[in-house]
Amino acid sequence: MVPGRGRPLAPGIAARAREKPIVLPTTGEDARRRAQAMAVADTLAALLGESVQLTVTENTSTMVSFRRQDGLLRMRVHRIFLNAPVDVICALAQYAEGRRHAGKAIDAFVKENLDAIQRVREERHRHGLRAKGIFHDLEEIFDDLNRRYFDSKIEAWIGWGRSGPQRRRRSIRMGVYLHDSRVIRIHPALDRPEVPGYFVRYVVFHEMLHQAHPPRTIGGRRVMHTPEFRAAERAYPDYGRAITWEERNIDFLLQAPATPWVFDLDDPLA
Ligand SMILES: [Zn+2]
Repeated sequence: MVPGRGRPLAPGIAARAREKPIVLPTTGEDARRRAQAMAVADTLAALLGESVQLTVTENTSTMVSFRRQDGLLRMRVHRIFLNAPVDVICALAQYAEGRRHAGKAIDAFVKENLDAIQRVREERHRHGLRAKGIFHDLEEIFDDLNRRYFDSKIEAWIGWGRSGPQRRRRSIRMGVYLHDSRVIRIHPALDRPEVPGYFVRYVVFHEMLHQAHPPRTIGGRRVMHTPEFRAAERAYPDYGRAITWEERNIDFLLQAPATPWVFDLDDPLA
């Protein structure tokens, strides 16, 4: 099992400066990361001569942070540091000693690993996706549309958008497709019995089209819904009645008890 959703790998891996901590090996990916984390915590403790509690995060905005509490150096580092070379681990130790120049080596390592950070972020998004709603199953819809219209060639992850605080809305975005992580999110306001299946299917189809017809620059402007996209959308059998339903029910969708989109995908998807 791969730990996801930004939860720390372990509540904290403690390494004492002198005595060796006991490692209890389990199996699989978790065990490998735990062993790596233990090695990093050990090295930091040895370099600093103090007890270290290391927490591994998948936080994409803060790569390294630390504080001292109860005679313990509590350090939080992003997962990429588990594979860091020893000079970077030394830089982490120096950083915890307040030596500012160490920040440079850490920044450089982060820069080299932006792809890995992005992959961790994507993994998290996929793990946080929930496709089965109360009334509509997005995965089922996606698979069916993929077979019928895309020769099963669309590769994407799909899930309902998160619920956020209630707010008065003037417009609603039914779905979104994230090109980088190939994630489709559908507005939770559509998971209601009043919303016909053909309308949900149309919204999913629209988001799938974004992968089939990616954005392109036309006349110096980046166009999301290209002429090819629009033509394919109009050719969808339910296009007419879906659009009509949307027009007639826009007020209903807007006063939905469900909540506005939360686009901040860097948030833990708890
Ligand atoms: Zn669109």
